[in-house]
Amino acid sequence: MPATSPHRDPDRPSLRFWGVRGSIPTPGPATARYGGNTTCIEVSVGGERIVIDAGSGIRGLGVALMKECGPEPLHLTLLHSHAHWDHIQGFPFFAPAYSKQTHIRVIGGNATAAGLPRVFADQMDGQRYFPFPFAALPSQITFEHIDAQGDLRFSIGSVAVLACPTNHPGGSLGYRLETPHGGIVFLSDHETGGADEERIRAFISGAALMIADAQYDSTEILTRRGWGHGSVEEVVGLAASSGVGRVYLFHHDPAHDDACLDRMLAEGQAQARQHRSDLVVDAAREGEEILL
Ligand SMILES: [Zn+2]
Ligand SMILES: [Zn+2]
Repeated sequence: MPATSPHRDPDRPSLRFWGVRGSIPTPGPATARYGGNTTCIEVSVGGERIVIDAGSGIRGLGVALMKECGPEPLHLTLLHSHAHWDHIQGFPFFAPAYSKQTHIRVIGGNATAAGLPRVFADQMDGQRYFPFPFAALPSQITFEHIDAQGDLRFSIGSVAVLACPTNHPGGSLGYRLETPHGGIVFLSDHETGGADEERIRAFISGAALMIADAQYDSTEILTRRGWGHGSVEEVVGLAASSGVGRVYLFHHDPAHDDACLDRMLAEGQAQARQHRSDLVVDAAREGEEILL
């Protein structure tokens, strides 16, 4: 897989990070290189426009899409992991949602008893939390639930997708997209070492690229067990033993500035060399585009 390229080839799957931070947006000079926006990833594959999560990074994506599409209709699929704020808070600021030319297929878990639509609608109640009501959005938005106990396979156009429940308080979903250039795995908001580790291992097995929750270093994780996030060391070990080609450290902690993330990345790369010389470890950076 070549390094980042600004050139987009319609036949090659590409991925862009619009938000890489966990928990809360963390703007400012100390996080300028890796970025401060919360989870949002854009994947272009098989002619499909796929967005993973609606953290604050989705605002920038929306601006770019409006510029790119102009008055033309926009169709996209939003794969949603779970209802925690850092994965939904950008949606009220997603400009295409305010256009009747936009069609959004939201796919996610049944994150609350009231269902997936409530996750989006409650934060846009038209009064207390946000001035514009979700129900008044002119875009066409449809919702599809994934039953964690049922069939986890579905497709987006020609792209086969597999969902996987992760080890996270309240539950979350990871996603695997199969592309002609290999599997792309999103495994954020997941704590490694849970009871279901073998299921996770099968889910990520042989993926070309994995975006993985590596919020903590090997010391921090010791006091944060049960918080539902991974450590660099454990994520690199998991990727190495599961035949993953390239892993992107993701869901960066708000307390970790650029220098800290440089250090964690270097540690992860050193650990990878001990496991498997061909495992590539990188850290997700906001704005970076990757071609498979
Ligand atoms: Zn999160
Ligand atoms: Zn979460």
